[in-house]
Amino acid sequence: MVEYIEKEFKSILNVFKYIDSWYWCKYTINTYNGCQFGCIYCDSRSAKYRMPTDFENTIIVKKNIKEMLDKRLTRARKLLPDVVATGSNDPYQPAEAKYKNTRQCLEVFSKHKYPVSVGTKSKLVLRDLDILEKIGKDSWCSICVTITTNDQEISKFLEPRVPTPKERFDVIRTIKDQTNYIQAGVSFIPIVPYLCDSDEHLEAMAKKIKETGADFILFGSGVTMRDLQAKWFLKHLNERYPELIEKYEELYDFKYNPESYEGKYTPKTSYHKKINKKMLNLCEKYELPYRVKRFIPQDFRRMNYSIAEKLLNEAYRQQMLGKAWSKKYWAGMNIQNLKESIVAIAKRNELQEIRNVNDEIEEFIRENLDVDEDQTGLLRFL
Ligand code: SF4
Repeated sequence: MVEYIEKEFKSILNVFKYIDSWYWCKYTINTYNGCQFGCIYCDSRSAKYRMPTDFENTIIVKKNIKEMLDKRLTRARKLLPDVVATGSNDPYQPAEAKYKNTRQCLEVFSKHKYPVSVGTKSKLVLRDLDILEKIGKDSWCSICVTITTNDQEISKFLEPRVPTPKERFDVIRTIKDQTNYIQAGVSFIPIVPYLCDSDEHLEAMAKKIKETGADFILFGSGVTMRDLQAKWFLKHLNERYPELIEKYEELYDFKYNPESYEGKYTPKTSYHKKINKKMLNLCEKYELPYRVKRFIPQDFRRMNYSIAEKLLNEAYRQQMLGKAWSKKYWAGMNIQNLKESIVAIAKRNELQEIRNVNDEIEEFIRENLDVDEDQTGLLRFL
C-alpha cells in the first residue's frame, strides 16, 4: 500500500554550475521524492539522495509546488530561462494522476518561457502533450522515454511496476504522431550487463527504436552501483539470476555480501568501450542520432550555446570511442557559461583567455563561428 506524505520544501529548483550535456539542462526539479515504479537498479535509492527508506511505497508529495516555483522564477534576478529537466524520480509516476504536481510546474515553466526536458517511463505523459507542445513551440521541449529492454520478462524483473516495453514504444509513436514541436526519443539507460547487452539484444533495440520514429537514442552502458542501491539490486539479482553474481563480482571488482557493497561504481572501462562502440555502430547503421538537439536561446548566449553544443558533441563521441575528450568538454562548458557573446571575445582576439581553449580549439571555434552574429542582448540580463 503506497503512502503519500505531503510536505512543504524550502527549495524547489536545483541550479547546476555546469550543465548536464546529455539532457542539456541547467536546472532540475523533483516534483516527488520516492518513486512508485520501483525499478531494482534505480540510482535514487543511493544514500546521498536521502529518499524515504521505503523508497517505492512512501512518496513525498511537494506541497504548494506551483506557488513556490512561480515565486522563485519571478524573483530570480540572476536566472535566465534555460532547460529544466525533471529530476531523479519519475515525474509521471502514479502519484501524478492524483496530485498533478508535474503539470502545475509545466504551467509555471510555460508562463516564464523555460524550456523543459522530461524523462519518464509512464504513459501519463500523454495527458500533458498540450502544454508540452506549447513549451516546445515557445522555446524547446524534449521527452525521453526510458526503455531498457524489449523483453517483457526481463522488464518485469528490472522494472516491476512500469508499463510494458511495447506500451512505452507506443508513447513515443503517439508523441510523434500528435505533436510538431517536441523531440521524443529513447533513453536506453542503463544497458544492464548480462541481461540486456548481448549483440542480438542491442541490435533489436536499435531496430525497434528506429521503427518507432524516435528522434534520438541515448545509451548508457552498465548499471551504476552505489551503497544502498547496489545492495538492493544485487539482492534481487541473486534471487532470480544467482549465476550472474560471479560475473558482476568480476565486472565491478567486489565480493558479494548481502549486508554491504564495497565494489566499483561503474563497470570496467574495457566493458564500457566494448558496448559503446557497438552502440555507435548500430546508431550509424540505423541512422539514429545519439545526441539530443539542444535548446538555443535567442539572446547574447546564442552563439555560445551553438559552439558549446558542437564541442560537447565532439567530446562525447571521443569519450565513447575511448579517446581523449576532456579538453573539448571543459572548453565547451566554459563557453557555455560565458557572460558575454563569444563573438565579441573573438573580435577582441581573446579566445584563448577562456579556460581550456588552446590553439586547436580556437581553430575549431573560428571554423564554426558566425562573426556576423547579432550581439544585441549582450549583458542585457546581467
Ligand atoms: S522510474 Fe526512474 S525514478 Fe522511478 S524507480 Fe524507475 S528508475 Fe527510479
